[in-house]
Amino acid sequence: MTAYFASGTRITEADGIITSVSTGSTPERSDIRLPGVLLPGFANAHSHAFHRALRGRTHADGGTFWTWRDAMYAVAARLTPERYFELATAVFAEMLLAGYTVVGEFHYLHDAGMDDAILAAATQAGIRLSLLDTLYLDTSAHPVQSRFSDGTLDAYLARHASLRAPSSEIQVLRAIHSVRAVDPGLFAELTPEFSKAPVHAHVSEQPAENAWALGKFGRTPVELFADAGVTGPDFTAVHATHLTPHDVELLGGSRVCFCPTTERDLADGIGPATALRDAGAQLCLGSDQHAVIDPFEELRGLELNERLATGKRGSFTPDQVTQAATAAGYASLGWRGGRLEVGQLCDFIAVDPASVRTAGALQLGFAATSADVTDVVVAGRHVVRDRQHSLGNIAARLDREISWLFS
Ligand SMILES: [Zn+2]
Repeated sequence: MTAYFASGTRITEADGIITSVSTGSTPERSDIRLPGVLLPGFANAHSHAFHRALRGRTHADGGTFWTWRDAMYAVAARLTPERYFELATAVFAEMLLAGYTVVGEFHYLHDAGMDDAILAAATQAGIRLSLLDTLYLDTSAHPVQSRFSDGTLDAYLARHASLRAPSSEIQVLRAIHSVRAVDPGLFAELTPEFSKAPVHAHVSEQPAENAWALGKFGRTPVELFADAGVTGPDFTAVHATHLTPHDVELLGGSRVCFCPTTERDLADGIGPATALRDAGAQLCLGSDQHAVIDPFEELRGLELNERLATGKRGSFTPDQVTQAATAAGYASLGWRGGRLEVGQLCDFIAVDPASVRTAGALQLGFAATSADVTDVVVAGRHVVRDRQHSLGNIAARLDREISWLFS
């Protein structure tokens, strides 16, 4: 058993599960003392680790989502399993330093060695992982897509069945890339497992994919997923930016993952978060292409986007955005975590309430940044101590890997 203590809160754990939480308590001699206040760890429900390489490199020439995608394809074309392992390890470590304790890696680089590389990277970095093993079949837009595709649905299912989680902090789940990458005509062949366990899919990030789906099938992407029986409590629609009122209704029993910092970076637009919440959808958050890795930015982005779109403040309370950033993300990724309660996964962080950013603030989610995260515990293990990851200099690792990719 390990015990952690900070600001009057004492948490004990055994086998990575919280066994007691007491407040107003005093520390015992063997307790690990942490500074600041304890919060549940943040869930990054949507990540493509290698996209981190594009941060701060795509802003000079304007362009669109589609021209950004060409730059992303160029990075994907250079990655080897060894380089993917090194880059993803550094990106997962950056997430831990920022306060993310679990990540849903929407993984679609499937050529030899890449699946093992991403599983090993999470283990090396010490982050909890749901590997969202992604079905991606279309290869008509760019030669690099051959690295993403298994060729056929049967080949995907066979490769997926061969994947093994190397530890109890990792699960392997399914994803469908999008109606762009998987012909909805194939949806009828999806096995029942696609609707019985957590499954994620990109949905309506760009108006062009809606126009394409409507032109070819007379249905929106959400309608196509709903027709196939994929929507429901285990389905997470990622982005869900450009929805019709009927789409919102159809997603009322599902989960929706917004990625506010990516959606603004790629000029995607602002999704109908309040309408989805009111329809019954459970909202969670992700950092997607990692233009920013800061869970506080995503958390408040959910509410601040609504302010810009509606001219009103307070569509979401601080508790609601915190829930989206923590417990709802854990649930979307198939874990029982994101709350400081007995029986939950022992994943939590310590945040400095007295930095120049947070001093005097009561609603930390609207004041703190990732720089205020001092300590991070995953499955009871102390991975980040006093703002240092156990692997050492993560900035140097990122610099080395990204410099190589563009060399
Ligand atoms: Zn994505």
